[in-house]
Amino acid sequence: METSVQSPSLATGLICSRCKQSYDIHQLQTFSPCCNKPFLVEYDLSAAPEKEELKNRRQDMWRYQEFLPVFDPENIVTLGEGYTPTRFFETYENVKLYLKDESYNPSGSFKARGIGMAVSKAKEFGITHCIVPTAGNAGGALAVFCAKAGIKATVVMPSHTPAIFVQECELHGAEVVLIDGLISDCAKKVAEIKQQTGAYDISTLKEPYRIEGKKTMGYEIAEQFDWQLPEVIVYPTGGGTGLIGIWKAFLEMQEMGWINCALPRMVAVQSEACQPVVKAHAVFTGQKNTYDLPAASVANGLAVPFPFGVDLMMEVLTVSNGTAVAVSEEDIINTTKKAAREKGVLLAPEGAAVWKAARNLVETGWIKENEKVLILNTGTGYKYLDNIIARSNS
Ligand SMILES: *Cc1c(COP(=O)(O)O)cnc(C)c1O
Repeated sequence: METSVQSPSLATGLICSRCKQSYDIHQLQTFSPCCNKPFLVEYDLSAAPEKEELKNRRQDMWRYQEFLPVFDPENIVTLGEGYTPTRFFETYENVKLYLKDESYNPSGSFKARGIGMAVSKAKEFGITHCIVPTAGNAGGALAVFCAKAGIKATVVMPSHTPAIFVQECELHGAEVVLIDGLISDCAKKVAEIKQQTGAYDISTLKEPYRIEGKKTMGYEIAEQFDWQLPEVIVYPTGGGTGLIGIWKAFLEMQEMGWINCALPRMVAVQSEACQPVVKAHAVFTGQKNTYDLPAASVANGLAVPFPFGVDLMMEVLTVSNGTAVAVSEEDIINTTKKAAREKGVLLAPEGAAVWKAARNLVETGWIKENEKVLILNTGTGYKYLDNIIARSNS
């Protein structure tokens, strides 16, 4: 496939995120064969438009189409994902917290951005069957985008995932496979099914495109803060595409001269039940490490025991002078309820973990007075209600 002259995309190639070797973006790729690491998409940013041109564009993530790797706009599979609201949330001890609310996305989570991107690329490559291991939201997003695209979807989930995640996938026509275990066990099943069927595996960072969709959060954050980024961004981290993607957007905008401010300190938030990123960061910064057996979390999206992109996450946390912190399961549940009662917002438990972590970091002084902080709620709380209520009463 050749890039047509009219293609809006400025994507030029793929590189291995470790050794930077180049690969052909017009070939279907998974992850780098040289280093067994995620790919990153590269762009010719010298041809980028002025940021003022964004003003009258469509209000979804495809407003940034130059920086997304779909070459023929006909292949875009969209349900209106992205361009979610950011608003003032609260002042906590002289720190202003802002909330970017990703629950407004189709299928109720920010997974719509990455999966919408990946399914569009699947369409561009003529793929007819996609498969994903998921803690819940990626499966829901795959089901809706594949329904729109007319592509078969197979979703492999832990059997402890709340029933609604299974029901939504089935309602949208996806095939659901349940596995006793965590998402890492689901990944093994995906490998098996892939062998038998040839389905395209869109596991986190094992294909190059989801991160590009997630990246649009970074562009929106810059636009919504009028190109003056907040000092701190607190983000609920599982596989890490959001953290890595937001940072990639900042670097691209810096290169284009769209932003000139200091970049935010990035904070990865996890659950104490499963915190490989917090542990890896502790080792990385020379602190002691203890290994706990990872367990399930009420914040499904955070329970990724062996994230494939851990090196890239460490890079973001280090370069940005950020940190990684964990919140207890009890605090996640209580904070979900607190947000519902006191703020009128039904956060996903992942979002509640972030709010709690942000307050903790204010209390310890890591976030300083008068700093501007952005917290992200990555999904709707509605899908988790059964779990929240069940665990509140026990
Ligand atoms: C998947 C998921 C996460 C983790 O996302 P990554 O960007 O892959 O780290 C956080 N919150 C929710 C609601 C999710 O579904």
